[in-house]
Amino acid sequence: MTKQIAILGSTGSIGKNALRVIDSLGPEYKIVALSAHSKVELLAEQARRYKPKFVAITNSDYAEQLREFLGDLDIEILVGPEGLIEIAELQEMDILLTAVVGAAGLPAVLAAGRKGKRLAIANKEPLVIAGELLRKEIEKNGGVILPVDSEHSAVFQAMQSGSKEQVNKIILTASGGPFRQATAEDILNVTLEQALAHPVWDMGPKITIDSATMMNKAFEIIEARWLFDISVEKIEVLIHPESIVHSIVEFVDGSMIAQLGEPDMCLPIQYALTYPERVAGIARALRLEEIGTLTFEKPNLQTFRALSLGYEVARTGGTAPVVFNAANEAAVEGFLASRIKFVNIVEIIENCLNRHNVKPTVSLEDVLEADAWARREVTELACSV
Ligand code: MG
Repeated sequence: MTKQIAILGSTGSIGKNALRVIDSLGPEYKIVALSAHSKVELLAEQARRYKPKFVAITNSDYAEQLREFLGDLDIEILVGPEGLIEIAELQEMDILLTAVVGAAGLPAVLAAGRKGKRLAIANKEPLVIAGELLRKEIEKNGGVILPVDSEHSAVFQAMQSGSKEQVNKIILTASGGPFRQATAEDILNVTLEQALAHPVWDMGPKITIDSATMMNKAFEIIEARWLFDISVEKIEVLIHPESIVHSIVEFVDGSMIAQLGEPDMCLPIQYALTYPERVAGIARALRLEEIGTLTFEKPNLQTFRALSLGYEVARTGGTAPVVFNAANEAAVEGFLASRIKFVNIVEIIENCLNRHNVKPTVSLEDVLEADAWARREVTELACSV
């Protein structure tokens, strides 16, 4: 049976990898829709190759150009953020793979959730800022969320060997980033260049900085909490610099089930698309004898204040994760533009959280409101550091 796939954010790193995976999966996997924000030339190139029924460009400044590029093809062009919702609700779509940066993809993800679609979520924001809301929609409408984040894909795969009630804890592994061995003093004066030099994963600048502060892992705690409907107390973080064990589930009998693989996003993307099947694909099998040693250590919570904050925010819930995410986005932007120092990122997030009045239950409106509030707040805080 053919599977019709829509990719939101097809011109980013995850989107491009997803298309490579789909190429390797063969003709039963078809692209029904693609979207991009502003990379209009690449989007047009992809559309020419995959011939989807729909393409969406969310930045309307590029709409005319896209129409010119694709004028000779029978493809419907959607413009603006509403285009993503239209795609999310397509009757003929089986899987929505979302890799839209920031909160922009959230309304579309919720719309697909309401339609009971299979959601392959690659970016963290939907589960971080609206995990509870999304979970409710999915449960009510019979949809499924398949994680694409490598750690959560690993947990999801390990979970297949027991029931949720039999889970003792989830252990999320973390590479530790470039400052794994740094002390709290060491990171006071790190440069942008040092923060951008990730030892294992090759990713965009925002997520590379998130990995250096370990905000990335803090988000993954929140993500896991909603994805697996598990209490925060059962989620642990373990530093594993080789990034081969992508995460571990410990069951009540003491068994630990882990998923191992090359640090390559193609495998988690593929599993989300083929689940519950496993098929041969483009991921290279691991050669453990080449790796030799796998090491694990506890994270240094003095250096990585973001982790303790992540636990607090996950426990608090409501609008706290929204502020946590938005404040981080704005602060990282400030760091990438050299307006603030590396250590200021987490300081600013913490200050912002302290000033926020948390709303316990969350609607999409609350999310958007808290998001906008945090961004304004960070602009003020960033001016004062
Ligand atoms: Mg991850």
